[in-house]
Amino acid sequence: MKTVAKLFLVGISACLVIIYVVTMPATDSILITLRPTPEPKTDFIFPNPLDDGDVGHLDDNHIAVETKLQTEEDIYHDPYLNVKYRVDTSVVDSFNVKEYIDNAAHDADPMKLNSFDQNRSDNIGAFRFISDSRHWTCLNHKEDWSNLPATSVIMTFYNEARSALLRSVTSVLKRTPPHLLADIILVDDCSDDLDLGRLLRGLDPKIKVLRNIERQGLVRSRIYGALNAAGPILTFLDSHIECNVDWIEPLLYQLTQKPRGIVSPIIDPIKAEDLTYKVASSNIKGGFTWALHFTWVQLTAKEMEGRHESDPIVTPMIAGGLFSIEKEWFFESGGYDMNMDIWGGENFEISFKNWMCGGYLYILPCSRVGHIFRKKHPYTFPDGNGKTYSKNTKLVAEIWMDDYKELFYHNRASARYSEIGDTSPRLALREKLKCNNFQWYLDNIYPELEIPEHNDVTISFNDWCLDSFGKTDNEVGLYKCHGKGGNQSWQINKSKNWVTQEDVCLTVRNKILVMHRCQTGNMHQQFEMDEDSNTLYNSYGDICVNVLNFKSRVVGVGACNKDGVLTTKWKIAKV
Ligand code: UDP
Ligand code: MN
Repeated sequence: MKTVAKLFLVGISACLVIIYVVTMPATDSILITLRPTPEPKTDFIFPNPLDDGDVGHLDDNHIAVETKLQTEEDIYHDPYLNVKYRVDTSVVDSFNVKEYIDNAAHDADPMKLNSFDQNRSDNIGAFRFISDSRHWTCLNHKEDWSNLPATSVIMTFYNEARSALLRSVTSVLKRTPPHLLADIILVDDCSDDLDLGRLLRGLDPKIKVLRNIERQGLVRSRIYGALNAAGPILTFLDSHIECNVDWIEPLLYQLTQKPRGIVSPIIDPIKAEDLTYKVASSNIKGGFTWALHFTWVQLTAKEMEGRHESDPIVTPMIAGGLFSIEKEWFFESGGYDMNMDIWGGENFEISFKNWMCGGYLYILPCSRVGHIFRKKHPYTFPDGNGKTYSKNTKLVAEIWMDDYKELFYHNRASARYSEIGDTSPRLALREKLKCNNFQWYLDNIYPELEIPEHNDVTISFNDWCLDSFGKTDNEVGLYKCHGKGGNQSWQINKSKNWVTQEDVCLTVRNKILVMHRCQTGNMHQQFEMDEDSNTLYNSYGDICVNVLNFKSRVVGVGACNKDGVLTTKWKIAKV
């Protein structure tokens, strides 16, 4: 009886195993090893904390299925909008450093493939000791680190050097206390080397690998990573970094104190030419130019007053590659702008948004992570580098910068013609989060940023615009306002009292007006713009810029009637 029961049980189990194997997704490794995948596929998906209910699922090929949008609002929160990636579930249970690095693509010129010295990187290998670059007072920290939340680390990469990616991951594994590391999500942005990310799963069971079916760029890749992250905190890192000692604790601690915001380590430079690890100053913050280029700027004298090197740096902008944020706040504040392609611009968006919509940005000098800074991108941009950057930054200018977008266009003229699609969902996000405007950001967060006076304006009378006709030393006249800027676009320089078009100035010459090269001290070029009466006054001749004959569109200078009857009232408007 007993043997019959045993046989029966064995038979049932065998059937179950066969049924199991047959119904498993048909990956070769599973059929060969007869082993189930290490984790059930559903474990990879954590719903967006803000979405209640069913937001999407993975099909049997582990491709996330697009979900129908219910309302316009869902656009910001729908994590599965056009998702195109696979979760790697092949069996990888061991790792060989030498094999992994030796089998990487190489070029005779070690700088060619990565814009940093790949041979040196290979020689360093999986891990090295680096100097502890923190100020010594960081070692005597007073914060209580005993109860910190765990983070997910998200690293996206495209054709990264194997040794650099391996070292990045190893430094996270070795320098993050295990209980603070929920998982490491590697997002392979469709690199040529299929094994680049996949094989790293052999390093540690905490590593998950997603691979995009098509190249997405870092913004969408990071979103996919974030959607699959298990930890309550997200930490985004580049794929050529080295975490320094105690790097994560200050970041996590700060987020427990003030959850809605972004914290960034100081980014120590690793030199592209020889991979030496350098120590970055703890007295600089992130800023930008009006062309929307990220810059590092010295802290102001006021900020330096009484400052200690380990104090948090309040920064207007983050560099963007390395930071931690609460997962809940990341999604609630709209994640990233999914319209941004390949690289660039996303750090402006997330920085402006955090400051303007109730968050904050700190750089914490007691957290240090090295990053290989390089002089150029080693990878291609399918639409071209300049075009992509213009598109991404135009999205920022149009959505976040209000009228200051004109300064951006003035400094990045090509962006006027970039196609950016529909900005209304993102503008609605700004409404929904009840954000402050850009003027508030400038006044409160970046007051020392110089605002150039070169605002482009039109100067018009009854819809007829002052027009230089594009010629110097020639008479200026009136032409029907066409709204395209160009020869009707003027800059009013209030410190010099010039009315200019680039480096040529509106100039009085024998009662007529001409354009002439700007000359400091030339009194014929100085006009005061009276904002009450809207007159243009030349004090040297005590004369005003007037329409002398509207019918024949003649402009010149004449007496200024103080009660404004004769003097032309100009309309000044932004182009
Ligand atoms: N990246 C990506 N897809 C792309 C372009 C870049 O995943 O199409 C990754 C890249 O591998 C790196 C991160 O995004 O880990 C930031 O890019 P990069 O290091 O070139 O930018 P930088 O540090 O120079 O600003
Ligand atoms: Mn980088």
